[in-house]
Amino acid sequence: MNLPDMHTAEPIPESARTEIDRLLQTGDLFRYTAASDAPVSLLEAEFAQRMGSKYALAVSSCSAALFLSLKALDLPRAARVLIPGFTFAAVPSSVVHADCVPVLCEVKDNYRIDLDDFSQKLKSGISAVIISHMRGHTSDMDAIMTLCDAADVPVIEDAAHSLGTIWRGRIIGTLGKIGCFSFQSYKMINAGEGGILITDDADLVARTIIMSGAYEHNWKKHPVLLGAFARHQNKLPLYNLRLNNLSAALIRPQLDELPRRVRDGRRNHDYVAARLNQSNYIEVPDPLEGEERAPDSIQFNLVDIDDTAIAKFVEAADAAGVKVQVFGQSTDNARAFWNWQFIKDLPELPQTRAMLMRACDVRLPVRLKWHELDAVTEVLLSSIDRATKIPKSEVA
Ligand SMILES: *Cc1c(COP(=O)(O)O)cnc(C)c1O
Repeated sequence: MNLPDMHTAEPIPESARTEIDRLLQTGDLFRYTAASDAPVSLLEAEFAQRMGSKYALAVSSCSAALFLSLKALDLPRAARVLIPGFTFAAVPSSVVHADCVPVLCEVKDNYRIDLDDFSQKLKSGISAVIISHMRGHTSDMDAIMTLCDAADVPVIEDAAHSLGTIWRGRIIGTLGKIGCFSFQSYKMINAGEGGILITDDADLVARTIIMSGAYEHNWKKHPVLLGAFARHQNKLPLYNLRLNNLSAALIRPQLDELPRRVRDGRRNHDYVAARLNQSNYIEVPDPLEGEERAPDSIQFNLVDIDDTAIAKFVEAADAAGVKVQVFGQSTDNARAFWNWQFIKDLPELPQTRAMLMRACDVRLPVRLKWHELDAVTEVLLSSIDRATKIPKSEVA
C-alpha cells in the first residue's frame, strides 16, 4: 500500500522567493527598520482585512499572543482564568506566565466544552476566559458568549489550530475580545514559528503592541489611534515577542492558499470520517450545527474496546505506517491535563480524562489525494479489526 508522508507540510509558494531574496540582500529583517510597509506590517494589514478585524499584531508564536492578550487585560495578580481541560499545554502555560491561575473545566466526548461545568465554574470568581478551539473543534460559541457577556468576563479565543473555521457565519477568532492564531508548521499556515492576534479594541491592541516590543516611538508604525498609545507609552514592560520580516514573507503568500487548504482539509476529513464511522468501534463526533470546520487532522473515539485492544490498535496502525496518538495513553502528551504538573492543585476532571483515554488523533495533511486517504483509512480499519478480533483459541 502506498502510504503518504503524513508529516511534511506543503511547499511554500514560489512567490515567497522574490521577497525573501530581497530581504536577504538588504538584510532588512527587523520589522521596525523600514519607515513603512515592512513585511510584518503588511501581513498585519492583510490579515486584519481578511478576518474583518480592525487591528492585528503579529508576534513570535500563538503562545506569545495568548500571553500578551492576558497581560493586555490588566488582570490582578492571581486572577482566575477559565480554560478547557482539553487543550494544548501552551494555554495553561500562558496563564501561568501572566501570573494568573488556570481554572479547568470539563470537556465532553465530542471534544467540546461541557457548558454545565463551564457555567458553574464561571461563577467561581473568574476574571477572564480562554476558549481553545482544540484541533478546530468549536464549542457552542453563542452559549459561551452569552454566559460570558452576562458575567462581564472577557473572552480570548485560542484559534491556533482553527484558522478558517466558521461558526454560524462568523469567523472563529473574531467572536471574543481577542483572537489568537499560530503559524507553527503543523497549522494551516506554516512559517515554522509565528503567531498573530486580532481585535477591534484600540486600547487592548495598543497595550499588546507596546508589550510585544514596540519600544520608543516604534508604535507609530502601527495604524492604531495615537491616543491609545500615548496613554500607555513608558508604562508597560517590554517582552520582545516580535515577528521578523522573513517569517512574514513566508506567511503572506500563503494567505491566498488558505481558502483552498480549508476546502481540501474539510473534504479529506469528511471523507475519512464517513468511512471510519462504518466501524462499530470508531466514532467521529459530528460538527455542531452551524460549524464549518477547517481540519488538517482527524480525531475519533474508540468505543466498546479496552485498553489492551487500544494498545493493539495503535501498534498495528504504527506497524502499517500510520501514527495514531491516543491523547491519554502516553506519559507525556501535552494535551492531557494531568501532565500539566506546573499547575498548583491540579484538579481531576473525570469526564475529560475518560474522553482522553479513548480519543485518537491522526494527522491528515490537506495535500493528501483520494488514494492516499483510502490507504490511511484502510490501515486504520484493518488495525481496529486486528485489535478487536477474538483469538480463535477463545472462540467456543
Ligand atoms: C499549536 C497550538 C498552540 C500554540 O501555538 P504556538 O504558535 O506553537 O505557540 C496553542 N493552542 C492550540 C490549540 C494549538 O493547537
